[in-house]
Amino acid sequence: MGSETPSAHIFLVCFPAQGHINPMLRLGKRLAAKGMLVTFSTTENYGKEMRKANNGISEEATPVGSGFIRFEFFPDGLPEDDPKQTDLEYYVPKLELVGKELVTQMIKRHATEGRPVSCVVNNPFIPWVCDVAVELGIPQATLWIQSCAVFSVYYHYNNKTVPFPTEAEPNMDVQLPGMPVLKHDEIPSFLHPSDPFQVLGRAILGQFKKLSKSFYVLMDTFQELEPEIIEHMSQVCIVKPVGPLFKNPKAPKTSIRGDLMKADDCLDWLDSRPPASVVYISFGSIVHLKQEQVDEIAHGLLSSGVSFLWVLKPPAKAFGLEKHVLPQGFLEEVGDKGKLVQWSPQEQILGHTSVACFLTHCGWNSSVEALTSGVPVVTFPQWGDQVTNAKFLVDVFGVGLRLSRGMAENRLVTRAEVEKCLLEATVGDKAVELRRNALEWKKAADEAVAEGGSSDRSLEDFLDDISKITS
Ligand code: UDP
Repeated sequence: MGSETPSAHIFLVCFPAQGHINPMLRLGKRLAAKGMLVTFSTTENYGKEMRKANNGISEEATPVGSGFIRFEFFPDGLPEDDPKQTDLEYYVPKLELVGKELVTQMIKRHATEGRPVSCVVNNPFIPWVCDVAVELGIPQATLWIQSCAVFSVYYHYNNKTVPFPTEAEPNMDVQLPGMPVLKHDEIPSFLHPSDPFQVLGRAILGQFKKLSKSFYVLMDTFQELEPEIIEHMSQVCIVKPVGPLFKNPKAPKTSIRGDLMKADDCLDWLDSRPPASVVYISFGSIVHLKQEQVDEIAHGLLSSGVSFLWVLKPPAKAFGLEKHVLPQGFLEEVGDKGKLVQWSPQEQILGHTSVACFLTHCGWNSSVEALTSGVPVVTFPQWGDQVTNAKFLVDVFGVGLRLSRGMAENRLVTRAEVEKCLLEATVGDKAVELRRNALEWKKAADEAVAEGGSSDRSLEDFLDDISKITS
């Protein structure tokens, strides 16, 4: 480490999934940029992939702004590519079983080596980290990586304050403070009585059962985006919106990224396209569309004639799924107008002037990255909070068009629907309106993270409170 002594040591424990790693690592960089020593910790299996996709991840402290970030991985007890990693009913309790002891040892070791941990931060699916911190007498904060609206939905569901859809009444609407009525297919799907992935809902609810242990709930959102909901949830716990975390004006760009795969080079290709002409298509790190759906999107792209950059990610080996194939002759017909990649540098893509709109599954990271880069979206949610995010992107934030509503998994979106939606999102009055709204959100987000902005102040409050508790 350099000559400056960091004022606090913040220990981040992260569930091993791309959508969890990205916001946690971004928080780590933000905290380091403010002069902290940050240890970022996740499983060894994920860490191995991060090392492969990055240069420079090590246990040595890497300077970021005036602070440092270092990495420390722990075994989850499973071999690489073990399909059990994708069976969350098995994996979540297994990780708790091995992780609790290992994380405790890691934190204790830091104390004996002269860099005691001042605060532990974890994200969803690993609520046991709260218990580790409490047992060691260290303040613990949660990083909530979805919207405050979704936080409110889970909170109210957990506390049974309002009725939610049941098997007897599956089509019930849900009304919560500060937000529009959510139809049954706009609440996070894991809370729906007929959802096949209720195990994920239970894994997320685990955090709410321990909410009273967290002295702070940091959120990857910003005050101006969800003011009434944030105010409402602030009556329940200390909610601190610190987002969008991917914007970090203080830290010089570091090369450390949380990607599981190396990004393909597509920025040069984007440079060659006219301004606001390219539809960027990506469905995040987990969603794997049905082959028939990929066919419909491909034909919709051809008939719309739009230029596109499409991330067609191969499925993780552990999922045992088939790789997608494109319709015969597709690539020849597309020619220069389109580009296919396996993984993209999404933050940079969304910041590129050639991008017109983003066809997205509406994961919260992708939603925030698009919205606050000034890029309109075409929403194609599949499950979980994606359906709620799509509702907000279209009806509340005014930056999106709906390609499908509710869980898209349940039906096939046709090529004609794809064509119509992409054209409406890229040319004409609606496209102009969406772009204007998105640019306003970009400006608001830039102000929120700038020095003295709402998110910056929230982070300062968090750090002040850590130093008060630990001094
Ligand atoms: N991402 C990326 N390149 C890609 C696809 C995704 O860098 O080709 C990043 C994206 O910027 C986001 C994350 O992966 O930060 C995906 O998170 P999100 O919450 O949107 O979806 P999830 O993968 O959790 O479903």
